[in-house]
Amino acid sequence: MGRRKKIVQECEKLMDKPDQIRNIAIAAHVDHGKTTLTDNLLAGAGMISQDTAGQQLAMDTEEDEQERGITIDAANVSMTHEYEGTNHLVNLIDTPGHVDFGGDVTRAMRAVDGALVVVDAVEGAMPQTETVLRQALREGVKPALFINKVDRLISELQEGPEEMQERLQKVIGDVNDLIRGMTDDMDDVDDWTVSIQDGTVGMGSALYKWGISMPSMQRTGMDFGEIIDLEQNDERQELHERTPLSDVVLDMVCEHFPDPLDAQPRRIPRVWRGDAESDLAIDMREVDPEGEVVLMVTDIGIDPHAGEIAAGRVFSGTIEKGQNLYVSGTAGTNRVQSVGIYMGGEREEVDRVPAGNIAAVTGLKDAIAGSTVSSVEMTPFESIEHISEPVITKS
Ligand code: GDP
Repeated sequence: MGRRKKIVQECEKLMDKPDQIRNIAIAAHVDHGKTTLTDNLLAGAGMISQDTAGQQLAMDTEEDEQERGITIDAANVSMTHEYEGTNHLVNLIDTPGHVDFGGDVTRAMRAVDGALVVVDAVEGAMPQTETVLRQALREGVKPALFINKVDRLISELQEGPEEMQERLQKVIGDVNDLIRGMTDDMDDVDDWTVSIQDGTVGMGSALYKWGISMPSMQRTGMDFGEIIDLEQNDERQELHERTPLSDVVLDMVCEHFPDPLDAQPRRIPRVWRGDAESDLAIDMREVDPEGEVVLMVTDIGIDPHAGEIAAGRVFSGTIEKGQNLYVSGTAGTNRVQSVGIYMGGEREEVDRVPAGNIAAVTGLKDAIAGSTVSSVEMTPFESIEHISEPVITKS
C-alpha cells in the first residue's frame, strides 16, 4: 500500500475519535514564514520528504508542485501525529497570507478550534498579526504563538542570549497585549494569552527546521545556550535532528489546542444564534455523529474533475454520499455526490465524515462560502464578519 493510502486510512480511523482530533489554522503576517512552517509539518507527518521541506522556493512553480504531488498554499491538509503514545488527527487549514485575503482568513477560523500565529522574531508583531488574532478570538479560536526566524537573531544579528531573550519576551508581551485588548470583555482572559511556561509559545527556525518550547527542552534536555552554539556553528542539521520543528509544533498543537468536544460547547453559542435548548444545539455541543447533519461551509474550491467542492466543518451528524441536505438561503435540498478529506492539494474520497472533522463535499451546488448545510431546516450560522485590514506599511 502506498504511503499516502496508509495516511488516509489512519486519518479515517481517527475521524471517529474527537478527543484525538485537532482542527487548526496557521496564520501570519505575510513573509513571516507560514508556508515554510506548514511545509515542515507536512514533512514531519511523512507527507513530503524532509529534504524538500523548508525549501519553500521549490514550490514556486507548478511543475515543482506537481512533481512533489502536493500543493500547500491555501490548502487544507489532514495529517496524523503521535503525541505521548496516542495518535492524533490534525486537520490543518492554511490561510492565505496576503492582506487581500482577509475574508478567507476569517472563514478559515470558523472551521478550526486553534490558531497557530507565526511571528517573525526580527520584525515582531505586525498589523496582520493583530488582524488574525482578532479573527481568531472573535470566533472563539484559541491562539498559540510560534516565533520564527530565530536563526537570524543568532547568525545574522549576532545577538547574545540576554539580548535575544529580551527580544523574544517583547514579541510575547506584544502579542499578549493585543490578546488582552481583544478579550477584555471575557472573564477568562488568561485562558487566551500565551506563555512559554504554559507551553503555548514555541520558537525556532522554519527555514532550518528546528524548534523549541518549554516542554521540548524538558524532553530533549537541550537548553538555549546549546541551541545558540549549534546555530552559530552552522550545525543546523544536528539541531534539526535533535529538536525537529515539526515535533515541537505538533506536540504543542495536540497538548494545547482544544479538541472538538472541548471547543464546540464554547464556540457554538458564539457563532450560532438558534435555540440553545433544541436537540440540534445539543447535537452540536456534543459533537454527536448520530445527530442531525450540520456543516458550515468555509470555502468553495474547484476541482477539474469533480467540479465545485464545498469544504467546511462538520459540527454534528455524519456526512455521507447520497444525503439530501438543506442549504441556507436557498429552497429545496442538494444531494451529496461524494465526501472526502484533504491531503495536500488533493481530495481523497472517504465513505463518511463524522462530526468534529473538516469535510470536502461535492454535489452541494447551491452552497457558497458561509452557507449552513444541514439535514433539517435550521437557523443558519452567524454570517462571518470580515475584519478590515489595518494599513500595511511593510510587506
Ligand atoms: P509566508 O508569506 O508567511 O508564507 O512566508 P514564507 O514561508 O513564504 O517565508 C517568507 C520568506 O522567509 C522566505 O524567503 C523564507 O525562506 C524565509 N523564511 C521562512 N522561515 C524562515 C526562518 O525560520 N529563517 C529565515 N532566515 N528565513 C525564513
